[in-house]
Amino acid sequence: MRAALVAVGSELLGPLRTDTNSTWLTERLLDVGVEVVGRATLADEPRLLESALRSAIDTTDVVIITGGLGPTADDLTREAAAAALDRRLVRDSSIVEDLRARFGRFGRKMPAINEKQGDLIEGAVALDNPRGTAPGQRVEHRGRLLILLPGPPSEMKPLFEKHVLPDLRARGRVVRRRVLKIAAMAESQVDEIVAPLYRGVENPRTTILGAPGQIELHLVGEGASGDEAEERIEALARGLRERLPGRIFSEDGRELPAVVGGLLLERALSLAIAESCTGGLLSARLTDVPGASGFLDRSFVTYSNRSKIQELGVDAELLDRAGAVSEEVAAAMADGARRVAETEIGIGITGIAGPEGGTDDKPVGLVFIAVDGAAGTRVQRARFPGWRERVRFQATQVALEMLRRGLLGLEPG
Ligand code: AMP
Ligand code: MG
Repeated sequence: MRAALVAVGSELLGPLRTDTNSTWLTERLLDVGVEVVGRATLADEPRLLESALRSAIDTTDVVIITGGLGPTADDLTREAAAAALDRRLVRDSSIVEDLRARFGRFGRKMPAINEKQGDLIEGAVALDNPRGTAPGQRVEHRGRLLILLPGPPSEMKPLFEKHVLPDLRARGRVVRRRVLKIAAMAESQVDEIVAPLYRGVENPRTTILGAPGQIELHLVGEGASGDEAEERIEALARGLRERLPGRIFSEDGRELPAVVGGLLLERALSLAIAESCTGGLLSARLTDVPGASGFLDRSFVTYSNRSKIQELGVDAELLDRAGAVSEEVAAAMADGARRVAETEIGIGITGIAGPEGGTDDKPVGLVFIAVDGAAGTRVQRARFPGWRERVRFQATQVALEMLRRGLLGLEPG
């Protein structure tokens, strides 16, 4: 089944409020096999709403509208939805009386403007809203389903779960999603390897999302049950793992720092880090992982030559000869961090993050990353495209991926 979501409210188009309902609904709908194929955020304008709803109901199986069910003059969803279906609005006196009684319980008289909250689209069923004054509505139209829900998330969510989800679950299929993550490879490189495999597969459907430093393969599988959907996903994931041996670092939602941190903890190995161009970003990412004190001993941000010499014992003559951005200095930083901190592993990163400071033989984006451990020192030279922030992030990804591969005994990437 295909769904369209319409978020109604002029405030959602300004900078102060965002439409969070649609994101939430999209996820819940996917769980029951309903795919969202369109989303719109619309101002409280009757003609705009009517025309959007007409086209949504014409082209999808389910249309869910949130917002605009309040009592005030700018709440126009009911009127617009009725017009889009060429139906009338019919005032339901029992809803109005319930509302009146509700106000009464709080010792208040119901304002006259609230009466219109009892207006139902001809043929619609009211969806009771115990947390607010606006009931939802559900109406079948030429085999399609139109659902009106109140805008406030705290009212919308329970209404959806109680009155809409069970019905959709009974009609729909189960959908599961898995995200396979790959670090430090180019999107085109990954796609070239895996596209021949996933392109021929309808279920699960695969989308490849590339960002600098990380590629994600999103697998969305469908089945009569959760197990069946998972089996479909696993069958494709197996093939992908074979084609990308050792490359997929996560299938359970974890990011690279958490995966690497987990490996260090498992093996009871301690780490010291020396960062130059990344300025502590690698350390920050690793210490975002809960329990980081179990593997990270210390970090040095050694930006100047003087600090590399003082803190890490890097040879002044080497800095002179090879330059601060060099394979040798990266290795000496990793070795120095490890030696000073007396840890099992040391990491050194030095490079040119830009935008200034590049030369012909040492251009912006050039980074050397060294991992020093019991098995010796490995240094990787990388040239990252993009601006400062991107260069720095990618450098940390490569450092983490080198560490991961080393810990798992895989060939350097
Ligand atoms: P309404 O039902 O239009 O009266 O909306 C009442 C409140 O719910 C407003 O404060 C909105 O900011 C909030 N709201 C409406 N639609 C959404 C949405 N799509 N996402 C998050 N909040 C919303
Ligand atoms: Mg509104």
